[in-house]
Amino acid sequence: MDCPKCENEMEVVRYGAGDRVVNRCTSCHGMFFKPVDLKRLKNTYKAEILDAGSAKVGRELNKVENIDCPECGTRMEKVHDDDQNHIWYESCPTGCGVYFDAGELSDLSQDTFMDVVKGWIVGKRD
Ligand SMILES: [Zn+2]
Ligand SMILES: [Zn+2]
Repeated sequence: MDCPKCENEMEVVRYGAGDRVVNRCTSCHGMFFKPVDLKRLKNTYKAEILDAGSAKVGRELNKVENIDCPECGTRMEKVHDDDQNHIWYESCPTGCGVYFDAGELSDLSQDTFMDVVKGWIVGKRD
């Protein structure tokens, strides 16, 4: 599988119990994975381990628009995260997967974690 943004090769990275995989670009470290795994990755610190790329490179490549799904070739749609509107990613309309630029997934999981922490602090006040 080739990276839809920079056209370099993507490698399969396993995580969790071993049956979960993401495809990660060996050059820009963008990641492509199944939509069902998004919620799982969002709520785990593992997102940061997997998201090994530079956020700076990710931000540059975030400007690359109109990419095709690396699996089926369909033009991907830009969608934003329901909880965090500033995070945009690409999603295949036929459901193959979603593509995140380097740094975006960490951003997503970190903010989620910070929200949890804020919840704890607020929760202790009354
Ligand atoms: Zn790439
Ligand atoms: Zn597709």
